[in-house]
Amino acid sequence: MSTTTLLSEKDTLKKTPQAFPFLDLRAQFASIRQETIDAVTRVLESQAFILGEEVDSFEKEIAQFVGCQFVIGCASGSDALLLALMALGIGVGDEVVTTPFTFVATGTAIARLGARPVFVDIDPETFNIDTEALENAITPRTRAIIPVHLFGLPADMNALKEVSARHGLAVIEDAAQAIGARYLDDLVGQLGTIACFSFFPSKNLGGAGDGGMLTTNDAAYAERLRLLRVHGNRTKYSSELLGINSRLDAMQAAILRVKLRHLDDWTTARRRNAARYRQLFLDAGLEQKVKAPEEPAGSHHVYNQFVIRASRRDELQAYLRARGIPSEIYYPNPLHLQPAFAYLGHDDGNFPQSERASREVLALPISPELTEEQQTMVVNAMADYYNSCTE
Ligand SMILES: *Cc1c(COP(=O)(O)O)cnc(C)c1O
Repeated sequence: MSTTTLLSEKDTLKKTPQAFPFLDLRAQFASIRQETIDAVTRVLESQAFILGEEVDSFEKEIAQFVGCQFVIGCASGSDALLLALMALGIGVGDEVVTTPFTFVATGTAIARLGARPVFVDIDPETFNIDTEALENAITPRTRAIIPVHLFGLPADMNALKEVSARHGLAVIEDAAQAIGARYLDDLVGQLGTIACFSFFPSKNLGGAGDGGMLTTNDAAYAERLRLLRVHGNRTKYSSELLGINSRLDAMQAAILRVKLRHLDDWTTARRRNAARYRQLFLDAGLEQKVKAPEEPAGSHHVYNQFVIRASRRDELQAYLRARGIPSEIYYPNPLHLQPAFAYLGHDDGNFPQSERASREVLALPISPELTEEQQTMVVNAMADYYNSCTE
């Protein structure tokens, strides 16, 4: 197949085997195989699976890493968001502000408690909440703001906290994609009232299944969160609060303790890969066709995803797929246009930047294990596609 002809629809529908995986978790496992097996064996030998020493130790190590006082493991990033809102006492009649350009769990956590998600559009440069538009969304019923540090880039927290402080609102960081990211001098996880993390396998610190975590510097919220994750129980069979069952498994904690030791190196590799893409785009003359992600001054992006804006995004992705090059779309549908949120009464056109982003974004492979050769394949295929388009 010539690389310079546009592919027919039939060609794009053919299943081409991937030249390499979008995210190579097997390569990552191979690099930490023995340490991981030792950790799992240790838990199996102990037969202590619920909370206990492994989870305590992991929570302490994360507190050290993030630089915050209290860490509470839980069952997923989605539960972390839910627990944070529960700890703040948010429920029916309350409003919580966030963006529609995020993973669905940010919105559902609010809705599940009977509160109303109030959306604010994104800043097209960063994909994060537009702090200029924030003020307009606040009403007397607003209780909290959930900035999402999307793709690993911290939201503009100084501008956001100026608004939250003026209105007396709590700030819940959705840091699911951003462990290790920095905003000015601080790591995410200590920039708001409570922060939520996810250990879903594709996150920068990913477990062998589901897992999540909350961080805070507020002792009272930390205590509530510890109760809420175990049915509100302070002692066995005595519920002080209406809680849920949402614990981090000891097995996950043991594996995550191993991986945490490598996280800084993996982040360095992601950042190196991001810099390499930028250079390869320049070398290939792609600056007019694709826009690399921004990293505003003072921010330290951890590139859970390397998300470009691409002209003719869908055609480009089909072309890449036919060449065996993996890519993903995060996110193809903003929350306000999803059936689950239809009851909010939004329409196409309500959040134009989020809608435009959902049509233009493309995530390229960025995992720490990605090689220079693979990145060159990605960019060469992109250049071939755009060269094949006759304007
Ligand atoms: C992954 C993710 C979540 C949910 O985390 P889970 O552990 O999968 O429940 C929430 N918000 C964002 C932005 C995410 O990327």
